[in-house]
Amino acid sequence: MRIVVLAGGIGGARFLRGLKSAAPGADVTVIGNTGDDIHLFGLKVCPDLDTVMYTLGGGIHEEQGWGRADETFAVKEELAAYGVGPEWFGLGDRDFATHIVRTRMTAAGYPLSAVTEALCDRWRPGVRLLPMTDDRVETHVVIDDPDTPGKRKAVHFQEYWVRLRAAVPAHAVVPVGAEQAKPAPGVLEAVGEADVVLFPPSNPVVSVGTILAVPGVREAVADAGAPVVGLSPIVGGAPVRGMADKVLAAVGVESTAAAVARHYGPALLDGWLVDTVDAAAVPEVEAAGIRCRSVPLMMTGVEATARMAAEALALAEEVRA
Ligand code: GDP
Ligand code: CA
Repeated sequence: MRIVVLAGGIGGARFLRGLKSAAPGADVTVIGNTGDDIHLFGLKVCPDLDTVMYTLGGGIHEEQGWGRADETFAVKEELAAYGVGPEWFGLGDRDFATHIVRTRMTAAGYPLSAVTEALCDRWRPGVRLLPMTDDRVETHVVIDDPDTPGKRKAVHFQEYWVRLRAAVPAHAVVPVGAEQAKPAPGVLEAVGEADVVLFPPSNPVVSVGTILAVPGVREAVADAGAPVVGLSPIVGGAPVRGMADKVLAAVGVESTAAAVARHYGPALLDGWLVDTVDAAAVPEVEAAGIRCRSVPLMMTGVEATARMAAEALALAEEVRA
C-alpha cells in the first residue's frame, strides 16, 4: 500500500511513527513542510524535515519533540560570547552538524530534495522524505509593529513562534515564495500514485496549509484517486500542543475540530477523525460532506498513535468502498 502523508514537525513526526507501526509493510512517502526553514549563522535549517528525520531515525529528543537527544550547546554558548545571535533559537552541537552538511551540499549545487535524501542515508527513517519544494519558501507572519503604533510588519515564522511565543496577534500568515515554487521531484507523482493520502494532526495553517500552497499540490490532493483522510490537531477546542489557535485565528478559522475540517473542505478531505471529546462535532463535519468518526486522538505513545493511524486507514477504506 502506498501512503502519502503531508507533514509538519512534531505532530507529523509522532503520527508517522505510529503509522509505521500500524502499517509496517506500507510504502510511505512524506511530503514535508519547508516553510519553517530559516537561515541562521549562515546555515540552512529545516526544522520540520529534521524533526521527521530524527523522530523516525531514533535521534530525537523525546520529551522536547524536536532537536537531538543527548544534546549539548557549546557552539551556541560560544557564539553568544561573541555577541552573535539569535539566542532564541536553540541549535545544539549535534544538530549543527546536520545544518553544516545541508548547507555545504546546497552550496555545492544540490537541491534540497537530494540533500534530504543524503541526510536520510544516515537516519534511515523508513519512509521516503521529500521536501514540498526545492525552492525557497518562507512563512512570514504579519503582526503590529511594536516600534510604530498603527503600522504592521512581517516577521519570519520562527521569530513569531519561537521568540514571540505567538503571544501577539497574527493578522496574516504569508508563505513567501510559495506562488513561484515548484513541487519537489516526486511530490505530485507520489500523490497521484497513492492508495491513501493522510493529513496527520499537523498545524493546518503553517504546516499542511503551507504544503498545499505550493502550486499543484492542492490540485493533486483534490484530484487524487485515493481517499484523503485527516486527523484533527485540535482536541476539545484547543491545540493539543503549541499555538495553532493563533494562526487559525489569523486565517479566520475557529479552533475546533469541525472548523478545521470545514477549512480543508470536502474538495480535499474525504474523511476526518476527531477526538472522542469532540464526538458532538461528527454530525457537523458529515453535514459538510466529509465522513467523520470520533476516536481517541492523543499521541501518548507509539501504541496509542498506531491505533490512530489504523483508524485513519480504516476510514480511508470505508470512504473508498
Ligand atoms: P510543528 O511543525 O512542530 O508545529 O508540528 P506539526 O505542525 O506537525 O504539528 C503541530 C500540531 O500537532 C499542533 O497543532 C498540535 O495540536 C498537534 N498535536 C501534537 N500532539 C498531538 C496529539 O497527541 N494529538 C493530536 N490530535 N494532535 C497533536
Ligand atoms: Ca513546523
